[in-house]
Amino acid sequence: MTRQALIAGNWKMNGSRQQATALAGGIAKSVDTAEAEVLLCPPFPYLGLVGEQLAGTAVALGAQNLSQHDSGAFTGETSAGMLSDCGCRYVIVGHSERRQFYAEDSSLVAEKARVAAAGGLRPIVCVGETLEERESGSTEKTIEAQLAPVFEHAAAEYGDLVIAYEPVWAIGTGKTASPEQAQEVHAFIRAALSGWNGDVAAVTRILYGGSVKPDNAAAIMAMSDVDGGLVGGASLDAESFVAIINAV
Ligand code: PEP
Repeated sequence: MTRQALIAGNWKMNGSRQQATALAGGIAKSVDTAEAEVLLCPPFPYLGLVGEQLAGTAVALGAQNLSQHDSGAFTGETSAGMLSDCGCRYVIVGHSERRQFYAEDSSLVAEKARVAAAGGLRPIVCVGETLEERESGSTEKTIEAQLAPVFEHAAAEYGDLVIAYEPVWAIGTGKTASPEQAQEVHAFIRAALSGWNGDVAAVTRILYGGSVKPDNAAAIMAMSDVDGGLVGGASLDAESFVAIINAV
């Protein structure tokens, strides 16, 4: 089963109109590959202008979060419908920063993933253990608990589910999981997916995220259950991000 690699850039809360325009334009003009799918997830206010930069190119647009609600009195929130309307094809849900700073639990993350899929977006569901959990030998237990509500809430509309394994201790720290550590957890996630739905497991892309850089990308992406990357810091520099894409 061939799964097309996906390389996603998560810009987090960085940039300005000018930087977003230059970064998206620089990446779009350098990306011309059918081997990997490329995705940019800028901050909400820049979705429109980044979308304009990406129109007619091989690079897709995505968001970093969404509301679990469809519409109504939810000040400050953004719905799946609005994101689709702005040209988004993907949305990241359950990033560890959302879990940590905005108290998003796995049940809410699963609900957001369900709402995203129902609204025509492909959810990228982030899971991953803290350093403490890894050191106490509970990595698999943690990930199992994060995935369980996703499977419970899931329905047939989950055809385009993407999972991102992002060990919390590797995000923005410069510490990367070794290719073998990543493969071990990715294989565990695929086995968990198989237990839920074998057909979905075979086609679901599992991305690795956590200090992916041009010099470590190729080795990690070469692992059999690693189907691409979710890239934070290195996606803020066009040259680095394009080098990562080329490494895949
Ligand atoms: C992320 O935030 O999803 C991420 C992986 O960040 P970084 O690449 O900076 O570790």
